[in-house]
Amino acid sequence: MSIAENIKQFKEKLPEHVTLVAVSKTKPTRDLQQAYDAGQRIFGENKIQEMAAKWEQLPKDIEWHMIGHVQTNKVKYMAPFVSLIHAVDSLKLLKEINKQAKKHERVIDCLIQLKIASEESKFGLPPADLGSLLAQKKELQLDHIRIVGLMGMATFTEDEQQLRREFGILKEKYDQYQQSEAFHVLSMGMSGDYPIAIAAGSTMIRVGSAIFGARNYH
Ligand SMILES: *Cc1c(COP(=O)(O)O)cnc(C)c1O
Repeated sequence: MSIAENIKQFKEKLPEHVTLVAVSKTKPTRDLQQAYDAGQRIFGENKIQEMAAKWEQLPKDIEWHMIGHVQTNKVKYMAPFVSLIHAVDSLKLLKEINKQAKKHERVIDCLIQLKIASEESKFGLPPADLGSLLAQKKELQLDHIRIVGLMGMATFTEDEQQLRREFGILKEKYDQYQQSEAFHVLSMGMSGDYPIAIAAGSTMIRVGSAIFGARNYH
């Protein structure tokens, strides 16, 4: 099926409260243009330089989401235009994003990535540390950042029970802080597990291969 048809099908089947991020990492701009022409306006990338290059080439009403791990020294390259950073997991990174956002007189929306997968992964904050990170953010008055919700990646498995359990951890933390922090984004679910993520309360799914086809490298 074509990229345009895939986009159309997602738009038809997704519940209204679920936002689709089209994950276009490694894909050429003509693929993104096809999705754009089919009405898609939110794209997710995991490398800052690649995202910046595509931002320069493509229409300016696209919302660019950084979904990958962010190195502090590269924040400056996306600060002028990024609309949501999904994978923030340290105070150091929050401070740098705040600094760069201030330079551009912006307030940048961020999600905190929690580590929910059982497999060994380097990234993501342990769920138990979320409260203290939010408190520190407030204390330091990082006013050029808005933490609008949480993000997580489940284990790469077909065990649905495990997926439900892991998404459940994220949803529980989201519910715990939703009111006090005015959270409104829960980013969970990818090509292989988005139906389970939506059933578990996701409001934003990040879908790559189910729209653009398999990637050539990993
Ligand atoms: C690549 C990636 C996705 C999309 O993966 P697919 O399985 O192709 O849908 C989602 N989230 C993150 C963080 C990614 O790096």
